[in-house]
Amino acid sequence: MAGVEGKVVAITGASSGIGEATARVLAGLGMRVVIGARRTDQLERLAGEIRAAGGDVRVRAVDVTQRAEVEAFVGVAEAEFGRLDVMVNNAGLMPLSPLRALKVEEWDRMVDVNIKGVLYGVAAALPVMEAQGSGQIINLSSIGGHRVTPTAAVYCATKFAVRAISDGLRQETDRIRVTVISPGVTTSELASTISDPIAREEMAALRAVAISPDAVARAIAYAIEQPEDVDVSEIIVRPTASPH
Ligand code: NDP
Repeated sequence: MAGVEGKVVAITGASSGIGEATARVLAGLGMRVVIGARRTDQLERLAGEIRAAGGDVRVRAVDVTQRAEVEAFVGVAEAEFGRLDVMVNNAGLMPLSPLRALKVEEWDRMVDVNIKGVLYGVAAALPVMEAQGSGQIINLSSIGGHRVTPTAAVYCATKFAVRAISDGLRQETDRIRVTVISPGVTTSELASTISDPIAREEMAALRAVAISPDAVARAIAYAIEQPEDVDVSEIIVRPTASPH
């Protein structure tokens, strides 16, 4: 395992779920973390916890649908720590519904956050990493990025897109590592964005076997911990008891 202590990591969507757990796990390994999301009260609470455990953390409000805010978020890593070693594009939402319900505004939000938010993260991090000559971009896809299910067409489309963007980026660079993390059902606030009652009920049943967000955070840590010449291109981490 390569030494990861002191690496500078920026994580979007760190106010709950997988992003929050990732910030805690990486800070616990001695990495310096910049955490972002819209709910700064949640971020401040997490930052307090990380500092109390001896970690080094900075907080920045970021809405990943706003390119300038994502640039400013990455700017915190540069200004405070002088570099950016890892960008974790984790922010996402999953308002599932059948297409015939025509929840077009929810489709728009998923495209804006899950696809464009990731692209803005890449756009902000890539120039910094290219100038450094190294870096790692970790994008959160999903098992929904591998297989489409009813009510999840648009969500799955966004997660297929994350895998396509990541694979293209990986092929275009030989100094920046690109990793896709594809979780199965994981305990978090993700299902709270579902407004369709049937999709909500179905998801509640699926989530009975959900794994802890720490499991996904450990997969992210594993990808970072490998030597610089080793690119862990994708990890699927799912509940043992889930067929999906
Ligand atoms: P949560 O809902 O717990 O976390 C989502 C995070 O995204 C929150 O911190 C939220 O913060 C942030 N977020 C949402 N919209 C924006 C925005 N516009 N700008 C900035 N941040 C935003 O869900 P998870 O932890 O589960 O989700 C994390 C990622 O993992 C997502 O990409 C999701 O698709 C993926 N995933 C999750 C699975 C699961 O079962 N949990 C399975 C497969 C993939 P705030 O509201 O404060 O802005």
